[in-house]
Amino acid sequence: MSDAETKTEQKKFVHNCTKCGQCCEKWQEIPIYIEDLQRWVYDGTLQYAMPFIQLEEIPPIYVRLKLKKPETENDPNPSGCPFYDYNNKICNVYSSMPVHCAAYPLAYNGEKYYLVDMDSPGLGQGKMTSESLSLARKRAKDHFEAVTNSSALLPYIYTLILGEIMRKSQEAMSTLSDEDKEQLEKLLSKSEDKKKEKSSEESLDESSEESLDESTDEIDKDQTDQIDQTEETDKKETT
Ligand code: SF4
Repeated sequence: MSDAETKTEQKKFVHNCTKCGQCCEKWQEIPIYIEDLQRWVYDGTLQYAMPFIQLEEIPPIYVRLKLKKPETENDPNPSGCPFYDYNNKICNVYSSMPVHCAAYPLAYNGEKYYLVDMDSPGLGQGKMTSESLSLARKRAKDHFEAVTNSSALLPYIYTLILGEIMRKSQEAMSTLSDEDKEQLEKLLSKSEDKKKEKSSEESLDESSEESLDESTDEIDKDQTDQIDQTEETDKKETT
């Protein structure tokens, strides 16, 4: 095979899912995007997905959505996707799977395509028709667009959700009786006192650690002086 032919061969993307379940079993959390939520609203998947959707805050301003299995005792398969059927090795939302999963293992960065997992067992398996290659590329591009759109919109949605929570809290406060308000104020001031107590305990701990450090420095210094003196004596004796 000539160099040119080898390069063309290396560039070909061939991937067919072997249904080994490796990716669905190993992913601890699956990123989802606004596109997934929109589609799930229309096809009815959202009601199944809701218990597994989490909003993760990444300071200072970034937020992201993900699917994550809740931690339950005695779960025989604690890792992996909440939609993965371990017995039958199938995805329970296959026809509406997250764009992240549909594109795997191909990705697009706005300029070119690349592989996100060189170890996927499906790589090099079987053949790719021109239709399946176009579909894989389209899915990688859809994924890229979903990531871009969500990055721009999620912080606003997060702010809206927080705003809604604040509004609901204010509404709830306005319906409280004077007696309930008094009770709530007492509880809040108790929790404030506890916070103050804790922080003064912590600062006490810190200052005792500092004085411990200082005394250790002093001991170290004394020991160093003693060693220096011994060395000096040894030197004189040798002379
Ligand atoms: S949503 Fe489906 S394809 Fe994606 S990780 Fe879960 S089981 Fe696998």
